[in-house]
Amino acid sequence: MIFILRPNVSGSEVIELIKDRSASYRVLDLYGRRVIVAWPDKLVEDITSNDIELKVKTKHKFQLASIEWRDRTVVEVDGVSIGGKNVVVAAGPCAIEDEDTFIEIARAVKKAGAKMVRGGVFKPRTSPYAFQGLGIKGVEIIKKAKDAVGLPIVSEVMDTRDVELMSRYVDMLQIGARNAQNFALLKEVGRKRKPVLLKRGFGMTVEEWLLTAEYILLEGNGDVVLCERGIRTFESSTRFTLDIAGMVAAKSMTHLPIAVDPSHPAGRRNYVEPLALAAVAAGADMIIVEVHVDPVKALSDSEQQLTIKEFEELMKKLKLIANALGRDV
Ligand code: PEP
Ligand code: MN
Repeated sequence: MIFILRPNVSGSEVIELIKDRSASYRVLDLYGRRVIVAWPDKLVEDITSNDIELKVKTKHKFQLASIEWRDRTVVEVDGVSIGGKNVVVAAGPCAIEDEDTFIEIARAVKKAGAKMVRGGVFKPRTSPYAFQGLGIKGVEIIKKAKDAVGLPIVSEVMDTRDVELMSRYVDMLQIGARNAQNFALLKEVGRKRKPVLLKRGFGMTVEEWLLTAEYILLEGNGDVVLCERGIRTFESSTRFTLDIAGMVAAKSMTHLPIAVDPSHPAGRRNYVEPLALAAVAAGADMIIVEVHVDPVKALSDSEQQLTIKEFEELMKKLKLIANALGRDV
């Protein structure tokens, strides 16, 4: 049950009533409002108070992420609005490999119209023998690239112990598909006031995905962008099955913006463009795509990274689709 309080009330009266009923609760300041979430519903649904502006009993298991108390959230990432009129494109390499290459890619994607840069320093690789990313060393490169190019940077954090450090260097923390139900990590990024790009785990239902966002919101961080990146199905002609339908369903259930990563489900360069176009046509608020100056030589995901030229082509087409829908990129 969500209680949205009137402006400038502390909520102490409501909290007392919740305590009287031995229910659990959390007091949060979310989206400029003081909100109390209390559970289970059956213990608290009779509560009334002059301090309450609105009381919402959601039909979903997720509450704070639910569309039932808020129409739409726009997440601001260092001046870039995700979830507003414009579709935001984030582009960059799968992994940051060295300073010069990363800055070269960042400059090129900016020139082509990307509003954010991506690049991993902590890489969740299936094999421990595969390139694991530059780790801490890469963090300095993120800073240099930010200074050189000026676009906000999104990068993955894999370990609770790195959340503090990464928060100081990146503009948006990415939680990868393989860590999507790492609840300790979700809570840790929830305690930071840093926007989060939350990938859907490839074995997760839409409801489970939205519940992972709930973990972050319940710690007081409302700046979450959900990211569909493909799920595992019986289909083997693509790396993962991009669940556009699931993305559409999620959008109908949450106020949070939704991103789509067309690169990881595609698994190969020539499938990336049509998947990205389909995602924007279906209402994605953000596209995050892998781009490299020399994809063949890339140290990870070389088959699916776009060349700069392919990315420029993609941007032109994305713009056409967005414009047709009254949006822009
Ligand atoms: C990535 O974006 O670099 C990545 C590893 O994605 P995912 O977690 O979706 O596999
Ligand atoms: Mn990758």
